[in-house]
Formats: sequence, C-alpha cells, structure tokens
Amino acid sequence: MRQFNESVDAYKEAVDIMPGGVNSPVRAFKSVGMSPIFMESGKGSKIKDIDGNEYIDYVLSWGPLIHGHADERVVDKLKETAAKGTSFGSPTLIENKLAQTVIDRVPSIEMVRMVNSGTEATMSALRLARGYTGRDKILKFEGNYHGHGDSLLIKAGSGVATLGLPDSPGVPESIAQNTITVPYNDIESLRLAFANYGSELAAVIVEPVSGNMGVVPPKNDFLQELRSITNEHGTVLIFDEVMTGFRVDYDCAQGHFGVTPDLTCLGKVIGGGLPVGAYGGKREIMEKIAPSGNIYQAGTLSGNPLAMVAGYETLQALTRESYSQINDKLDRLIEGFKQAAIDFDIPLHINRAGSMLGVFFTNEPVINFECAQKANLDYFAQYYRAMIEEGIFLPPSQFEGLFLSTAHTDEDIEFTIRAIRNAFASINK
Ligand code: PMP
Repeated sequence: MRQFNESVDAYKEAVDIMPGGVNSPVRAFKSVGMSPIFMESGKGSKIKDIDGNEYIDYVLSWGPLIHGHADERVVDKLKETAAKGTSFGSPTLIENKLAQTVIDRVPSIEMVRMVNSGTEATMSALRLARGYTGRDKILKFEGNYHGHGDSLLIKAGSGVATLGLPDSPGVPESIAQNTITVPYNDIESLRLAFANYGSELAAVIVEPVSGNMGVVPPKNDFLQELRSITNEHGTVLIFDEVMTGFRVDYDCAQGHFGVTPDLTCLGKVIGGGLPVGAYGGKREIMEKIAPSGNIYQAGTLSGNPLAMVAGYETLQALTRESYSQINDKLDRLIEGFKQAAIDFDIPLHINRAGSMLGVFFTNEPVINFECAQKANLDYFAQYYRAMIEEGIFLPPSQFEGLFLSTAHTDEDIEFTIRAIRNAFASINK
C-alpha cells in the first residue's frame, strides 16, 4: 500500500488556514473519500507527491499541460524571460506574438484580449455581449461550467456538480433571473427558450464539447442549430473553449466541428501552465472593448510576459500531427477500458471528442447532465482509489474529463491499461 503520511499532515495544516484546505474545491478529493495528495514535482507524463509516490498524470493541471510537466521548450523560455523582468504594465512584443498565433489558428477570432483566467474570459465576454446587444439575459446549458462569475454559477458543472451545489448562495436573485438554462444537446428546449426570450437574449454561452459533467460531445447538429437560432435572433454565440481550445484539435472545437461562433473564450492550453485566459472574436464586436470602445475590462497582470511566453511556446510546439499522435494513444486507451469492462463485467460508457475522454460507470449513453448524474459514483470512487494505488493520477471526480499530453508514451498507455484491469477487478459490486 502507498503511504500518504506527509500529504495527510500537510492537509491537517492546510485545513486550518485555507477554506477546505485548498485554493480550488475539487482539489479536496471529497467525492472519492480521500485526503488530498500534495504534489512536489512533475516531468513529462509523470508527477511525484510529497511522500515520494509517482504517478502517470491524466489531470495535467486540469488541462493546460498539453506537453506534460516541465516541458524544456517552455521552461527554457520562462527562465530567459523571467531574468529580464516579470511584468511591466506596458505592452510587450510577446503579447503581439501570442495574439497573432491565436488569430491565425482559431477560425472565429479576428481580435483578442488577454486576461488571467478562464473565469475572467467568460465574465468579460458576457459583459461584451450584453453591452454590444443592449440586452440583459443570457442562456447557458445545465452541467456546463464557465468559471465562477455570478451569471454563470447557475446549474453549473465541474466542482459545483461534484459537491452538489448547483446554485451558489451569494448570487443575487436579480442576477440569476437573467440566466436561462436548458439541458445540453436538447434542441427542442432551446427552441422553446428562444420562443419565450429570443429578443431579450444577449448571448448563448456553450462548451462546444462539454468537459465539466464528464466529457459529453455535442449531438449531431446541436452546434449548427445553435449557430442558426442565434443568428436568427441577433444573439451573440459564445463558445467557451477554455477547456476545448487547442485541446480537442489544432484549430479548437470550432475548427473540428466546422461551426464558427461570434466570440470565443480561451484559457488552460494558451497559458501553457501559467495563469492565462483570453476572449476574442469578430472585429466588429471586439472593437467595443475599452479603449477602442466603451465597454470596460482591464487587468494589472493581463498579457504578463511569463504567461504569454509559456502560451506562445506551447502553441508553437503543437502541430496537427501532435493531435493525431495523442488521438492514437487515446484510441488504444479506450480499447483497454472497453475490454476491461467486458472482462470484469463493469457497466461502462465512454465519451470521446477529439483528444477529450469521459468515463462513466453506466451502460446508458451520456448526452447531458441528467444522464451523467445517473452513473454509478460508488464504482467511480472505488476505481479512483484503486488507480491511485496503481500509480495513475486521474481527476478525482466523474464530472471531469481525462487529458493526455504529447509526453505520454505507448508504455504509459500499456501501464495504465494494466492498472485499469486491476482496478476493475477490485471493484466491490
Ligand atoms: N470554462 C470552462 C469550460 C472551464 O472548463 C473552466 C475551468 N475548468 C473555466 C471556464 C474557468 O476557468 P478558470 O478555472 O481558469 O477560471
């Protein structure tokens, strides 16, 4: 059995000085009945905790580390940049370079504004959509998570779903009533919502592949339908690609599915492991932001050179080939999961979109939040703890996806498949 004494001690100390002992709720490992594991270092696909246990990492800092930990190209540039000063509060050339790269790759983005987190990106994009249309209401989907802005913490996924706190106290009713929610992948409910509120809706915000109720891809024409109904009503379509951006594919989910939104939110991969978010889109809308327009949004550390250089190097190192390599490994992993489920008679449903993978302990298809909630969370917790013992670090919640990096090797995948088989064999039914 692995020992976690140092982590347990560190957590005792942390609980006294930080709410729940953590700086972000899912890190508390609550839903899998474990004490949080404190990490010390990472290299490539591997991480090491403070007790010296090693793991193959499929969390990758919840998505950003698409080249794995401490990638030399990124680290070298970070050192070089840090030595020249960490922040100037004046424009720097690296901001132009990252912005141009984003514009070149993301079909909807003609202009972009850098911020410091995904939450900031979605909050700012909503303000922009409201300012641009002169309307107040927005529409989001149940189980989609867009960060913790007030308007968006309604029927949200991710940690909010893991902890069973769908509507957070502290969000004023006056704000919540401007957020309309409908089930993901449900075109009928969407049409009904537009029939009722169409002329009042400033924006529809959507995860083009949902990654915060586990991974749930868009059904058939769902994204196309969103595009045409928002066009019809003069509503701004916002793709929240904080998770899917440069993760699902080289040109993001919008390139992958061939649907172009008006605005796009980015985060995670574009920061290469440093705190970055961005929102961008049509020039006509983006020019409404201050100082070219009068919709205000700002940031002391926005466009910070360290964050920009980490993002730039990360994107430079990603080619279309990188995604097909990741996809091949994912194919093999999925095959391993499916065979283990058959051999050990475990109910299992796998969702996959590009390089995003969702694992649910159910035999039913998972197309929305309601389906995701029906999966067997007890099996998930048992599997999770067994995988930790096997040396595999997974997101500690069924409502999160698994990530692979370009650093994961064929040996990592074979090792992981053996671990899955051992874990499934140990599940107490
Ligand atoms: N949008 C999506 C789709 C996300 O997955 C997340 C974070 N997991 C966010 C927004 C919020 O990003 P951040 O945690 O950087 O604020």
